[in-house]
Amino acid sequence: MIIESGYSLKAHNSFGFDVNARFFTSAGSEFDVIEALEWAKQNGQPIYPLGGGSNTVMVDAPAGLVLHINILGIEHYPKEDGSVVLRIGGGEDWPRLIAHTIDQGWFGLENLALIPGSAGAAPVQNIGAYGVELSDVLEKIEAVHRETGEIVELSAEDCSFAYRDSAFKGELRDKYIITHLWLRLSLSDSPVVEYPALREALNDPDDTNAREVFDAVVSVRSRRLPSPSELGNAGSFFTNPIITTEQAKQLTDQFPELPQWTIDEQRIKLSAGWLVEQCDWKGFREGEVGVYPHQAIVLVNYGNATGTQILNLAAEIIRSVDKKFSVSLEIEPNIIRND
Ligand SMILES: Cc1cc2nc3c(=O)[nH]c(=O)nc-3n(C[C@H](O)[C@H](O)[C@H](O)COP(=O)(O)OP(=O)(O)OC[C@H]3O[C@@H](n4cnc5c(N)ncnc54)[C@H](O)[C@@H]3O)c2cc1C
Repeated sequence: MIIESGYSLKAHNSFGFDVNARFFTSAGSEFDVIEALEWAKQNGQPIYPLGGGSNTVMVDAPAGLVLHINILGIEHYPKEDGSVVLRIGGGEDWPRLIAHTIDQGWFGLENLALIPGSAGAAPVQNIGAYGVELSDVLEKIEAVHRETGEIVELSAEDCSFAYRDSAFKGELRDKYIITHLWLRLSLSDSPVVEYPALREALNDPDDTNAREVFDAVVSVRSRRLPSPSELGNAGSFFTNPIITTEQAKQLTDQFPELPQWTIDEQRIKLSAGWLVEQCDWKGFREGEVGVYPHQAIVLVNYGNATGTQILNLAAEIIRSVDKKFSVSLEIEPNIIRND
């Protein structure tokens, strides 16, 4: 294991913020992870697992040792019930993985095409898009316990998945480093096409297949979202707020065109993008930071912005949405600030 000092993380975070890790190493196996944990313990350093850095705002570099998860490999086990179980290394690139599953005829992940980042980070916020979430296909996780160095298996139930949320953001926060995912996909094609923007992008949404859904998702995402290699960003900067049905009714009286989705009898989900757009932020630019002109929920780094500048812009947006709609927006990416 090679530990590097003063390592630039500019290429390891999708905003492209130029911060230096005090210590940095890469893990190609669960045994490297255990070795890195031992090194961190012996040297009194905290440890931070990093995938692609595409859900992270690095105001500062993470303190201590940044452990880049680079565990590769996709094993597949066809089952008699018409499914295929995959064991995926946590360092596999998510967009490449999805393209591979479609090529192999393993279905169920097509709606999650082109979400940047690593497989190992996908459970942390239970990634989701176009009506599908990771939790729909996840069977279990292999992870290393950060205190004991023990390799464990966690069931989907242990992960307490919810909308853009999991136990890794709550009771299991900072407890495990995820090394492998086990997913169950289908060998037969049954695409999920309820999401309106996806239906619009398909020729015939009621007679389609996984390959067409994959192509449609890639095409819609490429149009709506900036590629981090061209314009620094972390995808959706705010989660869609969830409010009570009572609040939603009051808001609809005031704003009849308010987009909303019923979650259950008590809860309604709103569109963060719509709320931000109504406050006239779409296309806003001030210096090096701005709001993407094609998608109001995406904050961008036009070149040399800092994490602090992005957070200041986010704070102004949150204030304006609160003032107009009395709705509190929450920031989706993980913020790293050492103060
Ligand atoms: C253009 C763009 C579009 C996006 N679209 C979507 C979308 O449609 N849906 C969606 O859900 N997200 C979306 N995202 C957010 C992001 O792609 C996902 O959250 C992704 O899973 C992040 O992966 P990562 O490897 O880059 O995570 P990182 O940013 O490296 O890490 C995120 C968090 O997970 C932790 N972590 C990383 N790896 C591990 C590990 N192996 N074990 C334990 N903890 C770990 C980190 O410490 C950090 O807390 C988008 C981002 C961008 C830039």
